[in-house]
Amino acid sequence: MTELICIVCPRGCHLKVDEENGYAVTGNTCKRGEEYGKKELTNPTRVVPSTVKIKGGIHRRLPVKTSKPIPKDLIFKAMKLLDTVEVTSPVKRGDVVYKDILGTGIDFIATRDM
Ligand code: SF4
Repeated sequence: MTELICIVCPRGCHLKVDEENGYAVTGNTCKRGEEYGKKELTNPTRVVPSTVKIKGGIHRRLPVKTSKPIPKDLIFKAMKLLDTVEVTSPVKRGDVVYKDILGTGIDFIATRDM
């Protein structure tokens, strides 16, 4: 049995996940907590926020995030990819900054206009 706190919404329910019983989840208030608890123990993923260099913008770095959650064990490598990326202003929120992170089909996208 593993205990964890659901991070899907601010309520922060205390979940228990039973690995020996098909990853059955208890302590969740809603269905999303059940999904989160199961996934966290079988294939944990996260949306990854970061920044990239930008030329001609009002700031030197542009905030970005992954377009979908990526597997946790790829986070470090994914962020390393951004070291070599430099975009040029203007950039619109939602623009793809880096395509197909490590073959996942998930992109880094801008999170603001600049
Ligand atoms: S189980 Fe549902 S209500 Fe509880 S923290 Fe997760 S998303 Fe929020």
